[in-house]
Amino acid sequence: MKKHIIVQKFGGSSVANVDRIKTVAKRIFETKTKNNNVVVVVSALGDTTDELEELAFNITKNPSEREMDMLMSTGEQISCALLAMAVKELGHDAISFTGNQVGIKTDSSHTKARIETICGKRIKAALKQNKIVIVAGFQGVSDEDEITTLGRGGSDLTAVALAVALKANVCEIFTDVKGIYTTDPRVVKQARKIQNITFDEMLEMASLGAQVMQARSIEVAKRFNIPIHVRSSFSKEEGTMIVKKDEKLEEISVRGVTSNKKESKITICSVPDQPGIAAQIFTEISKSGANVDIIVQNVSHTKLTDISFTIPTSDFNKALDATTKIAKKIRAGEILTDKNISRISIVGSGMRSHHGIAAKMFQALAKNKINIDMISTSEISISCIIDQKQTDEAVKILHKAFQLDKI
Ligand code: ADP
Ligand code: ASP
Ligand code: MG
Repeated sequence: MKKHIIVQKFGGSSVANVDRIKTVAKRIFETKTKNNNVVVVVSALGDTTDELEELAFNITKNPSEREMDMLMSTGEQISCALLAMAVKELGHDAISFTGNQVGIKTDSSHTKARIETICGKRIKAALKQNKIVIVAGFQGVSDEDEITTLGRGGSDLTAVALAVALKANVCEIFTDVKGIYTTDPRVVKQARKIQNITFDEMLEMASLGAQVMQARSIEVAKRFNIPIHVRSSFSKEEGTMIVKKDEKLEEISVRGVTSNKKESKITICSVPDQPGIAAQIFTEISKSGANVDIIVQNVSHTKLTDISFTIPTSDFNKALDATTKIAKKIRAGEILTDKNISRISIVGSGMRSHHGIAAKMFQALAKNKINIDMISTSEISISCIIDQKQTDEAVKILHKAFQLDKI
């Protein structure tokens, strides 16, 4: 009988210390003894990636992205070697590999590289020798033989991409919560575990701040239709299945609530209200590499208008430099900035067919004196920009207003 190939990914908190590494090793060993081929993807131990980043920023405000990748990729190299040792200690042969060693080829955009191909020859050879294969997550190699990383949370992407390349039967993401919840269970204790969620809804939740899965990994899973099982490293309980839309799945109007505190706002005041000005501004900002999100332009009665937009806080400095330059060129007025904003969102594919959802969201916020600064919608989500101090409160209010504690 042909053996199943199972890809299992363990996140940082699942391997935060020696005891946890040993527990993970036992779990992998159990999967292997059920006559499976097991390929494991592992993240850096605990908060290693954050600590490495902090070290770099203690040395320079502007580290080169190439050197950041050299640095950040070391975290996963440590954890994969340790995990291989722990598995061997249990009496089963195992081998660890870096992304480069298993041929995870990426483009050359350091710190956010895209996977182009995976060769996987060494993985297949090691599986043939009945070894448990442990791959360092979050990293690859470019055509120029440079080490690259896949963006924060990128081990999820390594796992899904390997599942595609190896035609795995199952892709399991082990983390420190029991699955995908209606909102972050660390913020709202009434949050409920979701049994099944569609790729589209998970992609939207992940893009809007639910860090439990990296958004790009869901894009790949959706494209290749790889179902993902998100579950706990610390329990045997079934978690959440992320799957293609199933006709049997009832379309729920609001599936979850998310928040993102890592956004900032820039406003350019007194912008000449003429054709082509917005194009000039946002061309300049896009050239800086900053990712603009919500844009609001005020109605102009005076031939001068204000334009506000949000960007990820990590892009703030480059966006502000570009804005300052273009504002001067087009003779706009003052530039205002606000890093103390956050985005709260509701997500659900049933929004397409239910009406009154936005009104209910705004009413719930208004009743609790939470001011809405900006609004943005997609087919299956509604987001509001609010004062960052009120983020957790707003999440709790919306979770309750849409009765997500009762599903
Ligand atoms: P890992 O280290 O396993 O990759 P992460 O820290 O990246 O884990 O993601 C797991 C965390 O995501 C949880 O501890 C939880 O606080 C957070 N989270 C945010 N939103 C959700 C959600 N809707 N469902 C589950 N977890 C969520
Ligand atoms: N260690 C990397 C990070 O913290 C990748 C990952 O854990 O998925 O972002
Ligand atoms: Mg993660």
